[in-house]
Amino acid sequence: MNRRQFILAGLGTPAITLHPGSPINFITDPATSLILPGATPRTRPRTSRMRWAQLAFVENDPKHFDPDFWLDYFRRIHADGALLSAGGVVAFYPTNVPHHHRSDWLGNSDPVGEMIKGCRKMNMSVVLRTDPHATRQDMFDAHPDYISVTADGKPRRHWANPDLWVTCAYGPYNLVFMTDVHREIMQRYQPDGIFSNRWAGHGICYCRHCTENFKKATGLDLPRSERRLDPAYQKWEAWRKDRLRDVWFTWDGEIRKQRASARFIPNGFPDKLETGKFADFFFADQQARRGVIPPWSNAMGAKELRAGLGMKPIVNIFSVGVEEEYRWKDSVQNDAEIRIWVAEGVANGMRPCFVKFGAYIYDKRWMKAVEKMYQAYLRNETYLKNTAPLARIGLVYSEQTSQKYGGKPWQEKSNEHALGVYQALVEEHLPFEMVNDKLLDRDHLKPFRLLILPNIAALSDSQCRQLRDFVNAGGSLLATFETSLYDEEGQPRNDFGLTDLFGVSVDRTNAPGTTAPVHHSPRHHSPGHHIPRRHSPGHKCRPGRRPHAQLLPPHKNRPPRRERPGRRLQDHQLRIQGKGQTQLGLPFSRHPDPHLSRPPDGRRLPQAGRDRHPRALPQRARPRPQHRAPRPQSRKRPRRLHTRATSTAVSGRC
Ligand SMILES: [Zn+2]
Repeated sequence: MNRRQFILAGLGTPAITLHPGSPINFITDPATSLILPGATPRTRPRTSRMRWAQLAFVENDPKHFDPDFWLDYFRRIHADGALLSAGGVVAFYPTNVPHHHRSDWLGNSDPVGEMIKGCRKMNMSVVLRTDPHATRQDMFDAHPDYISVTADGKPRRHWANPDLWVTCAYGPYNLVFMTDVHREIMQRYQPDGIFSNRWAGHGICYCRHCTENFKKATGLDLPRSERRLDPAYQKWEAWRKDRLRDVWFTWDGEIRKQRASARFIPNGFPDKLETGKFADFFFADQQARRGVIPPWSNAMGAKELRAGLGMKPIVNIFSVGVEEEYRWKDSVQNDAEIRIWVAEGVANGMRPCFVKFGAYIYDKRWMKAVEKMYQAYLRNETYLKNTAPLARIGLVYSEQTSQKYGGKPWQEKSNEHALGVYQALVEEHLPFEMVNDKLLDRDHLKPFRLLILPNIAALSDSQCRQLRDFVNAGGSLLATFETSLYDEEGQPRNDFGLTDLFGVSVDRTNAPGTTAPVHHSPRHHSPGHHIPRRHSPGHKCRPGRRPHAQLLPPHKNRPPRRERPGRRLQDHQLRIQGKGQTQLGLPFSRHPDPHLSRPPDGRRLPQAGRDRHPRALPQRARPRPQHRAPRPQSRKRPRRLHTRATSTAVSGRC
């Protein structure tokens, strides 16, 4: 008789359920859903779940909550994982932790336990959600030091609900109180993990714990401003990351103590490299788009996480509600919007997880759409599991550049360079992956033949060396604007860190507003092939070197599929060719794409080159289609999504 049989025999089988097929081998009493002693948990997290369902309870849900309705829906959509709200601001179970506020509508009920019981009958994984960002008056009275403090020394009221206080994320509220909450949740329900929402604080907190701890760590007083490039603020950011890592590890350690295979899953951590290193699986809270954000932004988030997490499972939390500035969580997106958003995530390896805020439903229209999607994902599950990208193009992103580079107006939105290249690659149907700039070693770059560095301005000497190694091993690089002109601390260099690789140096002789020649082959050289120098320091070829890029005039070497009616051809193509026949045709526009950036009233934006520079290329006449409907009036200028007019350097063995 083994341990499991012994336990079953000793306790009487009729009342006990041994979870069939469960990788965690725990035993629960179906009446109470409590874990019985003697379970032998596995130490590996449960990672095979493909279709998730999230119910984010609101305070009055226990009053009119119908668990059967939801369990039936979970069954119909073949959900195999559930993410359920349990505690934090509000406890949806009969908690015994002091000052852990039970829902005012809880009474004697236990919505969490009831749902877990139903989910486990269907062999679903269960992850429970906590939200520690706010608390009530009784906590304030008992532990005033748990409350976040503003710069003027006042305890911080909640921005949306004045009955609540915002908590300090970096001190004992998280490290002591929330650890107690997580311990209790684990002991009662033994979920596969705990996911915390809004756990990472809201800006600088000036409470006594933060003041003392920051001083002890850095010798400094807390910064008074949140200017990104302020050295004191950057020190605080680094300290905050250390504190959040402590919180993560404290909670994760306590959770594993209660069940070895369970994990803490943070909703975001301010470093994707560490996220990939420490997380065994991850929930990406990328609910929906707003404004003119393209649907592929969900894919971009997936690719950025995958760069660090590799093949570890990433679950995509998507919303069925509208995610505009004023989010009414009972509103509903239309089917097409939900489908395209989720498809972008699934196509990039994420596992879908719908989230419904509030368990009482006013509008059920989204349910059929999600049901159809999930059923299709079930039918095609074989093709969605254990997949690896085959892309040979890597688009580098750099949190280091986002944090350390800038200061001048044109440098502030450095991420727009990546957005432009991303859009260009999508338009050209070129498969690509995102590459974390901290993972430029040989193993991580092995799949790639071409790396694109869209204004990856802040690069250390070591990173530059890794890029050199990549090129020496046969890889190609395409870099734009001020790539490598700054070091890892954002300090400017005298010349590009990669100057030897590209064969170009900074050209500081021309003032901004003049034009600079793009590096191209002599075949296409003409005085017209100039890119307006807007703010770039400019590039000049080093003696005896010729970069390996071709700026092609319109209509040359264009694939036929681009010629279809109604589709505007880009002005130019920047073509590069690397070793191994890697070929990339990037649409290279000197001005914003009018399809994406024309103001709603139809007037033409000032165009770099034509409006400012006498030597600019003439723009091709393009009649505007007559059938186009008038665009809605808006005073907001739409966000530009285009390849920036920048100087570009290419290197590689071509
Ligand atoms: Zn604090």
